[in-house]
Amino acid sequence: MNKTVKKILKGVGLLFGVVAIIVGYFLYKFSSETGKMTPVPTGQISEHGYAIKDEFANMYLIKDSLGYIAIDAGKDIKVIESEMQKLNINPDEVIAVLLTHSDMDHVAGIPLFKNAKLYMARNEVKMLNGEKQKIPGYNNSISRADYILLDDQQNLEIGKHKIHCILTEGHTSGSMCYQVNEKNLFTGDILSLHDGKLGHSVKFFDLDHDMTTKSISKITNLPNVEVILTSHWGISKDYKNTVKDWKE
Ligand SMILES: [Zn+2]
Repeated sequence: MNKTVKKILKGVGLLFGVVAIIVGYFLYKFSSETGKMTPVPTGQISEHGYAIKDEFANMYLIKDSLGYIAIDAGKDIKVIESEMQKLNINPDEVIAVLLTHSDMDHVAGIPLFKNAKLYMARNEVKMLNGEKQKIPGYNNSISRADYILLDDQQNLEIGKHKIHCILTEGHTSGSMCYQVNEKNLFTGDILSLHDGKLGHSVKFFDLDHDMTTKSISKITNLPNVEVILTSHWGISKDYKNTVKDWKE
């Protein structure tokens, strides 16, 4: 073997080694961070509300006279389908899906909801077209292109439900919180809950952790909110007490 071939093989070996270390670190961090998460089990959580658990993530359903409004769409389509079966809810009855953001653990079940309109923040398009990326070379993707784009402070009415959109960028470029009928606040991944208190988002999963932290302040002073519903850290039914001691 001549010297040039040896050098090339050495270089390739080194490159593989570095890639293996990066991938290994990513997998280790991913499983250790998701392992700490505390989603609620699948079940009814209020008169018109249901949680669906998909490993370390929750999606939610709100019952309306026209059908169901989904907040996010889960991480595994088969799990979402079977968990909905347990609740006797037919995915065809879902009339709207409101995405808090487009990370893969929030969008996998979208093809199940064939009759639903799909909503997300206008800023989230940057995560799909590659203008913003969490991992270099990797874009978020969703299975449909006919989404309806929402802006900060926009109000929507779906059936009898009034939805107020609050743009809370940072975790992704277009992370959106949804305040439903004033009292329920769906926060996606912008914060965590620990012992009934508000905590930071998980830095490892954020596009811009400092911006996420700043965004949290947009939802800590909402007069009529009673319940906080997160995507990975469960639910707090005592909003005032939960946000009371929040400091950036
Ligand atoms: Zn998530």
